[in-house]
Amino acid sequence: MWKRIEAHSQPWDMIVVGGGATGVGVAIDAASRGYDVLLLEQSDFGKGTSSRSTKLAHGGVRYLEQGDLGLVMEALKERGLLLQNAPHLVHDLAFVVPNYDWWEAPFYGLGLKLYQLLAGKYGFGVSRMLSREETLERLPTLKTEGLRGGAVYYDGQFDDARLLIHMVATAHENGAILLNYVEVTGLTKDAQGFVDGVNARDDETGQEFHAAAKVVVNGTGAFSDRLRQRAEPAATPMIAPSQGIHLVFDSAFLAGESAIMVPHTSDGRVLFAIPWHGHTLVGTTDTPIPAATLEPVAQEEEIDFILASAGQYLAKAPTRKDVLSVFAGVRPLVRAANVASTAVLSRDHVVHIDRSGLVSVMGGKWTTYRHMAEDCVDQAATLAQLPERACVTQDLRIHGFHTAAGEFGSLSVYGTDAVAIRKLIATDATLADTLHPALPYVKAQVVWAVRHEMARTVEDVLARRTRALFLNARAALEMASTVADLMAPELGWDGMAKAKQLAAFRSVASNYCLGQ
Ligand SMILES: Cc1cc2nc3c(=O)[nH]c(=O)nc-3n(C[C@H](O)[C@H](O)[C@H](O)COP(=O)(O)OP(=O)(O)OC[C@H]3O[C@@H](n4cnc5c(N)ncnc54)[C@H](O)[C@@H]3O)c2cc1C
Repeated sequence: MWKRIEAHSQPWDMIVVGGGATGVGVAIDAASRGYDVLLLEQSDFGKGTSSRSTKLAHGGVRYLEQGDLGLVMEALKERGLLLQNAPHLVHDLAFVVPNYDWWEAPFYGLGLKLYQLLAGKYGFGVSRMLSREETLERLPTLKTEGLRGGAVYYDGQFDDARLLIHMVATAHENGAILLNYVEVTGLTKDAQGFVDGVNARDDETGQEFHAAAKVVVNGTGAFSDRLRQRAEPAATPMIAPSQGIHLVFDSAFLAGESAIMVPHTSDGRVLFAIPWHGHTLVGTTDTPIPAATLEPVAQEEEIDFILASAGQYLAKAPTRKDVLSVFAGVRPLVRAANVASTAVLSRDHVVHIDRSGLVSVMGGKWTTYRHMAEDCVDQAATLAQLPERACVTQDLRIHGFHTAAGEFGSLSVYGTDAVAIRKLIATDATLADTLHPALPYVKAQVVWAVRHEMARTVEDVLARRTRALFLNARAALEMASTVADLMAPELGWDGMAKAKQLAAFRSVASNYCLGQ
């Protein structure tokens, strides 16, 4: 890809800044229309918010209450398209809303029926009321005291960072060039003051370069204002960053195959407890923060709040000692006047064009990335006077597409790539060795990640190619040196480079471990 950049003498049709769901979505959309696209990500793909979500492809039951039916319908359609185009990475999941008060059953039952109806032909499953016994059958570890019954509805679940890696491959297969560890350090302008390219720096070599473009798209999520202000220092900030955290526990805390959805916690948020990769994921919070950082840290009050809220619903209340991993992410919410709390800010997206011609696509959510990209590319192509071409992503399959990937067991998230990973193992049986007894990952996945998924650091492998760091931070720390040993010959690391990698990983991983 570097060679393709060096040989590129004409301006790119489009340069996309940011390699999260938004930026990579834009790259897929533009490249599949036949535009010439370069995407630059300052860290790893998904290092930002896109690996730190609740991992739900959902319409957002909560937005029903805010009366935003259009937003819910749009997201439900996108949820259906995600399942259609990436069935190896997205699946449906039953969510049970437990009722402890007499009024809850009719109230939530009706809302969930509406939610199901709004999905139309993109529907997942039939929602219905559950008796007390049926509720406990689905959620055997639910607190029984005062339980009256429940309601079940269906939504989508996915592995966010894995989907993103497969989206990067999809963009590349459609002709885009995408690089991680290249930061856009500045925007350049033509004589009229229009953005006409980017200055960038390769993090690994320190090499700086300029790339010209007919249009530059800002897909930097919670960092959007920073890039906008590089084009126009006086640009009014548009992002209201808000942090959300998740705690991960052993699967025993949530026995069965259903998730719990609590529509109203004590601070008015939704709380989810979800089975994910053989563990229990509980979240989330909504804490306004002054500015986004790449490695946000969970605040003590957020941790206490999730533990206390989970304890109200789970038969065995989890404690700090039970936390296997804690992770935080920053919502790139678009500001609204006269709104007191970020919890009520719209999750709708905005395509904003600054006077400099920088196109920023902000807000939205993971589930709607495809629609956001379509909207953004339509506007960016008009601005850049690119030849008009229709969006083709509604039916575009995501790399690895496979309708029965479950047959690959713990490699199912790779879809068709699982076949190639098995072939890799056939050439060297030691690659079938697991990396840690607590997690299903095998050595072949590390080699595969370096050779085919652009993993450049130990953290890339343990946080986003596998999800070890998010599932069990201590196990990830214990796996790190084996991972570094496997990566070293692939990437030409000497002893010092390996030690540097391990030190960097330990420093990041310490944020995911809870002190007792
Ligand atoms: C706690 C939480 C839970 C959520 N749960 C869900 C959910 O269940 N379902 C759902 O649909 N949505 C969910 N969301 C929302 C969703 O995760 C986000 O909307 C989405 O991931 C945002 O993607 P993004 O690409 O805009 O931002 P990011 O993923 O943050 O990507 C932006 C990227 O830009 C890069 N960047 C910044 N500056 C530069 C530069 N100068 N040069 C190059 N690169 C740069 C960053 O490194 C980063 O990787 C959740 C969000 C949070 C915080």
